[in-house]
Amino acid sequence: MTLSKFKTVLEPNHRPLVFPKTIVDFVDLFNTDEKCLNYISNIKWGNGGWKCPYCHHKKFWIKQRNNIIHCVNCGYEESFIANTTMRYTKTSIRYWFMAMYLVATYKAGLSAMELYRQLNFGCYETAWTWLHKIRMAMANPERTKLSGDIEVDETYIQTGTGEKGRKLGGEATLVVCAVEMKYNKKGYPASGRIRLRQIPDASADSLHPFITDNIVRGSTIKTDGWRGYSGLEDYGYNHFVDVIGKPSEASKKFPRVHRIFSNMKAWLIGTHRFVSIKHMQNYLNEYTFRFNRRGNVKRVFNDLLKIAVNMPARTLKEFTEPERVYYINPEG
Ligand SMILES: [Zn+2]
Repeated sequence: MTLSKFKTVLEPNHRPLVFPKTIVDFVDLFNTDEKCLNYISNIKWGNGGWKCPYCHHKKFWIKQRNNIIHCVNCGYEESFIANTTMRYTKTSIRYWFMAMYLVATYKAGLSAMELYRQLNFGCYETAWTWLHKIRMAMANPERTKLSGDIEVDETYIQTGTGEKGRKLGGEATLVVCAVEMKYNKKGYPASGRIRLRQIPDASADSLHPFITDNIVRGSTIKTDGWRGYSGLEDYGYNHFVDVIGKPSEASKKFPRVHRIFSNMKAWLIGTHRFVSIKHMQNYLNEYTFRFNRRGNVKRVFNDLLKIAVNMPARTLKEFTEPERVYYINPEG
């Protein structure tokens, strides 16, 4: 692949990445399956590229129809997309690149209906499944924990169509949020990285694991007076309790977490309209992934692709059993 026209950045692990500035650049870079597969090989095997595990030969053909590497010397074959988000796909890999690019660069994300239209899929379900697979790649297993001063609070998110004439109603699910407390130059509250998790209830059994999984011990955690948070000192945290007297005080005492909740709810309704509770964690992962990269938007596509290429394969069955992906946390 000729990258000369585009700025290439060599990562510390010698993986060359390109950061297309416009959709025209993107299309120029990835307009054939071969170009996409070569880029995947850069990400998967580093700058040296692929090497045959048997004869150590470096030259290969690409069998585009089924995304296979064929060793020129000994005929060994290996799939480009085994153990990736794209595994088993029968669709051209270019479409996956385009889908990830659109998801990564649309500021408010992409609905399944929009992807269905843009890529002209045969059925809506394909677009829906692809987006959920891509969202799963938004939960980086190598994430680092939040640290410093952290605001934590929960909220209910209502979804479903509800009764006629009402936008919301019916189902609701509980979501807990942790956010790093920062301040801008003028001294107003600002947010660092976040974590979000769908929880079955607000008990200590649900809240404590969320905190220990996502926040470095020694950090200071600010919560309201809810008893589900008591006992955090036992895990090595400093716990600062700020009791909320009236409901109107909540957004003043916990400004960051409340801003995140209200923006996230607006995003869920605005972009996706209908979000099922069963798949809520996947949407939370997408929101977190995007939020934590808001200052460096051009990285999002490459970050997404890097995780997708190295992600253990996931099956459709795992969407229908969401508890298996329930506690995967978004990267930050
Ligand atoms: Zn070989």
